[in-house]
Parts: sequence; C-alpha cells; structure tokens
Amino acid sequence: MLRQHFSTLQKNTSFSVGETYFDNGLGFVSTWQMFERIAPPDTSLDFFSIAPNPPSDAELIAAFACHPPLQCYAQQLMQRWQRRVPGWNRWHFAGGRVRLTLVIADTANAISQIDKHIDTWLSHDITSGIEPSPKQPTRSKQKTPTTALVIGGGLAGCASAYLLSRRGVHVTLVERSSTLASGASGNPRGILHARFGASMTTLHRFVLAAYGHALTLLDEVIPTDGVSRAECGLLQLASPDSEAKRIGKLAALSMPPHLLQFVNAARASELAGLPMTQGGLWFPSGGWVVPPQVCARLAAQPNITLSPNHTITTLSRTTSGWRASGDDFAFEAEQVVICCGHQARALAQFAQFPLQAVRGQISAFPASNTSQSLRSVVCAEGYCAPAASDVHIAGATTHFDDENTELRAADHAENLSQLARHVPSLHQALGPIDVAQLKGRAGVRCSAPGSMPLVGEVERGLYCSLAHGTRGLLSAGISAEVITASMCGQLPPLPADILAALSPQRLLRHI
Ligand SMILES: Cc1cc2nc3c(=O)[nH]c(=O)nc-3n(C[C@H](O)[C@H](O)[C@H](O)COP(=O)(O)OP(=O)(O)OC[C@H]3O[C@@H](n4cnc5c(N)ncnc54)[C@H](O)[C@@H]3O)c2cc1C
Repeated sequence: MLRQHFSTLQKNTSFSVGETYFDNGLGFVSTWQMFERIAPPDTSLDFFSIAPNPPSDAELIAAFACHPPLQCYAQQLMQRWQRRVPGWNRWHFAGGRVRLTLVIADTANAISQIDKHIDTWLSHDITSGIEPSPKQPTRSKQKTPTTALVIGGGLAGCASAYLLSRRGVHVTLVERSSTLASGASGNPRGILHARFGASMTTLHRFVLAAYGHALTLLDEVIPTDGVSRAECGLLQLASPDSEAKRIGKLAALSMPPHLLQFVNAARASELAGLPMTQGGLWFPSGGWVVPPQVCARLAAQPNITLSPNHTITTLSRTTSGWRASGDDFAFEAEQVVICCGHQARALAQFAQFPLQAVRGQISAFPASNTSQSLRSVVCAEGYCAPAASDVHIAGATTHFDDENTELRAADHAENLSQLARHVPSLHQALGPIDVAQLKGRAGVRCSAPGSMPLVGEVERGLYCSLAHGTRGLLSAGISAEVITASMCGQLPPLPADILAALSPQRLLRHI
C-alpha cells in the first residue's frame, strides 16, 4: 500500500506517514529507504513517530547492528539522536527530502495534536494499544510554491530562505542594508542558551524544541571549529536567588544528561575552568556561534537570490501572489515572509502589531592570561563566552523602546558589574578595564507580549517570523520550519497548541 502511495506521488507534493511507536527506529528507516527507492523526484516524505520511552543509544545501535543494509541510514539517525530533546524533534535527512518528526512524550496527547495532518498510519505498531484513526490519504495535496520573497536578511530571514530553498522553492532574499545580518543578528558572537522552567508551559516546550532544532540546523550549516562556532558547553549558574529557585524545580524533572545536568560549585568550576561560587545547570551542547556566519551559510544556496540595498515599503496582492516594492523597484512571488524585526511596523499590514524595540549592547572584554582559562559559556543574569581571538564577548543590556545603536560606556559598565556580581573569579581575572575604551556592539531586538515569537500566516500567502527577542539563535530555525511546512502544506514540526501560541492570529484578534 505504502509503495503505491509513494510511486504515484505527484511532482512538488509530500506524503506523511505516522506510527505510534518509534521502538528502535526501524519503522522510520525502512520507510525512508523505500521512499528513496520508489518515490518520484521532487516529492518529499514526512514521517511522524512517538517515543514515550525512547531507547538508549546502545539499544538503538544494537537494533541496527542486525540490519547491515540499513547501516548508512542508521548512522545518520544516530547523529541527530544525540540532539534529541523531550517533546518535539524535527530532523532532516536526504538533503531535506525526508523529514522525521519524533515526539518524545505521551502517545495519546501527541496523536491528538497531529492526527489531521497524517496521510496514513503504519499498521505494524499496534503495540502502544492506541489506534489512531485508520486513514487513506484524502487530503487534496497542496503543492509546494515555486517562488517566495523573504524580506529581512537576519537570522529569521536567512533560516526561512534556507528551509524554503531546501523544499525546492526559488527564494528572493531582500535586505535593506548592503550586507546580511546588519540588524540584531550582526553580533560578533551569540550564545545558544535554552532557558526553560519546570512547569513546561507552552513557551518552555517551544524553547526545548527550538534548542534541539537549532543544534541540528547548525550541525548542517556550520562547523564547530572554534572560529565560527564552539560547542564548549554552557553553565547556567544558580544566581541570583530567583534563578536558584527555577533550577531547584528543574532538578525534580528527569532530563537526559546529554541535554542538561545539575552540577555543584566544585563541578561547575571544573567544567568552566575558573572557580565558581555557585553550581547550577550544565548544558553539554551549549556554546557560541558567530551569527553573521550562520546567516551567510544559510543564504548561500543555489536557489536563493540575494537582493541587498532594497528597502521594502509596500506589500500588495497580485493575481498570483504578492508584490513587495520600494521607491523604484518591485519584486513579485507567490508567497512572502516578513522577517524585518521591529521595523516590520513600517509596513501597513504590520502597523498595528504590538512589536517592541529593545536595545541591547554586548561588550568585548580583552582576555588576560588567567581569563583564557574560561572554557565554557557562563550565564547568570548576563553571559560571558570563553576567549576567541583574545576577546571575551559578554552581555547583554536591555533598554525598552530604545532604537539607538551607538555604543554607551554605561552599558559596558553594566555588563562588567553583572560579571563582578555573579562570576567574581572571571571579573578578577580580566584585570582593570577602562569602559570608555571598550569595544562592543549595540543592536535592537524585537519582542512581542508573552515572549513567544510571532510566526505563521498573517493573511493568505503573507507570513511573518518576528519578535525573536533575546533568543533568535534558538528560535529562528524552528520558526522557519513552521512557516515552510505551512506554505508547502506539509506536516508541522510542532504540536497544534504551540502553533496557536506562535500564530500572529493571536494578536490580530485583539487589534
Ligand atoms: C546585544 C544583543 C545580544 C544578543 N545576544 C543573543 C544571544 O546570545 N543568543 C541569542 O539567541 N540571541 C541573542 N540576541 C537576539 C538575537 O540577536 C535576535 O533575536 C535575532 O538576531 C533576531 O533576528 P531577526 O532576523 O528577527 O532580526 P534582525 O537580525 O534584526 O533582522 C532584520 C533584518 O531586516 C532588515 N529589514 C528591516 N526592514 C526592512 C525592509 N523594510 N526591507 C528590507 N529589509 C528590512 C534589517 O536590515 C535586518 O537585517 C541578542 C540581541 C542583541 C541586540
């Protein structure tokens, strides 16, 4: 049956297969292998699976050891497996043509969040005792659009352009500056920090899924070479008191050690390479990246055309899609994604959106011989990264409704005093610092009420990925995945309740 579905797929469409029990991954890998052999080119597969009790690494390896022909598939699965998070995981294989959505959670809840998107459920896995509605594909197949405009060349825009291009869409990426990453995404380094609480609210479940997704997306596009990216680990100190409380509550949850560990001050000192007065959370896969490099790598795809130095001022509908125009130029495409940060408010369709500009500044502290011992990112109220090219990047300040991007000595002083308060050993190691002479960078973040970004369809064919706040490195990728899936009529990477919380429709109802 599956063979017939795969072989008769039409160009530019996708097919979704669900199973209720991931077990050891053989169902997914065999389906992927069959799809690659049978399905016509220009088609794609979404495989949805649930793992209430995920196998250990050793169990997964052992299961595939009995199936030598599947070894090359298993190896690719194992790479992503190291990045798994509780909740929803979205991984790409075969150049993005095969996508696995793996839910590490309760089965019944996961099915209720996704059932309508599944074309057919595998019948081999009645083991879970829960039978989803048996289905033959009835949905009329939505075709992948041929063309899209992405407006804004920061992390959100570049990630959207990248994932659309991986679905075969021809993308024009329009940026008002002469280079990509000229806005908030232009910092010399940013940290990959998953900050979530034990209550597992919608926001926290989103952050977890975004973290897992960001790690696999970065694995795809940027090497951990210590220049563009370092996976040096991230220490979240139990300081101040509110943070200690949050961490204490998290300790009650059983989180996989590859994701996070609870460490005392002695272990924290060992991991960080400098004495820490507090313990806290240790994220082994945390670290830093150079956001402009991420943007450049994401945008360097054959079917992405860059159009710098173009400021879009007007969006209007055409008979076949959308026109985005400026003073003396216009671009047209079937669909459009707005990724302009707080500047989206200048476009009529977004003028009423409650987007807030939030100025932030990072400081570049010159490293000393002693401070070079810092091995991991350390976070408390702010953060500081280990030295690269003899400089530590530390930040970041927060000033609401302030769009000024001049460097301020007072902001450097604030970053320095945060460090003195929470990581005195590092502050001491840096030695005397003249804040008036410090380098750094100021940028403007975009935030919206509720701390969730605004991601999804605003009106037919018009999408946005906005308000990534303080965590764009985490949230830009999964948001691009949400938009791409929606545009192409494919399986969403997140459950219905998180999609609803991300949707710009939540704000439009109140405007
Ligand atoms: C000081 C500071 C430190 C930070 N540290 C971290 C960190 O450590 N980790 C982390 O995850 N996040 C961090 N962030 C947040 C992160 O940088 C942002 O969330 C992220 O960059 C947002 O990306 P974006 O693409 O939405 O916006 P932007 O990067 O601002 O991109 C928007 C782009 O749209 C363009 N544009 C605007 N209007 C138009 C138009 N009309 N036409 C064409 N183009 C237009 C702009 O020129 C800009 O390039 C930090 C932010 C700041 C300011």
